[in-house]
Amino acid sequence: MADTSGSQKTEDCIFCKIVAGELPAEVVYKDDETVAFADINPAAPVHLLVIPRKHYTNVVEAAADDPALIGRMLAVLTRLAGEKGLLEDGFRIVCNTGTRGGQSVPHLHFHLLGGRSMAWPPG
Ligand code: AMP
Repeated sequence: MADTSGSQKTEDCIFCKIVAGELPAEVVYKDDETVAFADINPAAPVHLLVIPRKHYTNVVEAAADDPALIGRMLAVLTRLAGEKGLLEDGFRIVCNTGTRGGQSVPHLHFHLLGGRSMAWPPG
């Protein structure tokens, strides 16, 4: 499949800088293709971000290039939910996409939110 990430400008991407260790983050997990760290502005008692090391602007781009990566990221998210003790009471995984989706950082990331009750629908 086409490598769409090649068209992205990654040198100014804050999450690429976290992957590269050029920007500090409270990293809680990493493997060959993903990194998980605490959200700098937590919206819940547990608020982690899981990102791919490879730069994809959003989930649409990643799904076109490597859909299985998204499954592996979900496995990391549920593993972290377990480690944080969220499996019994539940949690939320969020992937804001694009302007109207509320995405503020253009590097694919899933939010893992837990430790409180979540409202629905989201704002
Ligand atoms: P979104 O609005 O869905 O794109 O989510 C981006 C998230 O990244 C927000 O919840 C921010 O608080 C978080 N964030 C931005 N910069 C950093 C950073 N340097 N370290 C950790 N989290 C960050």
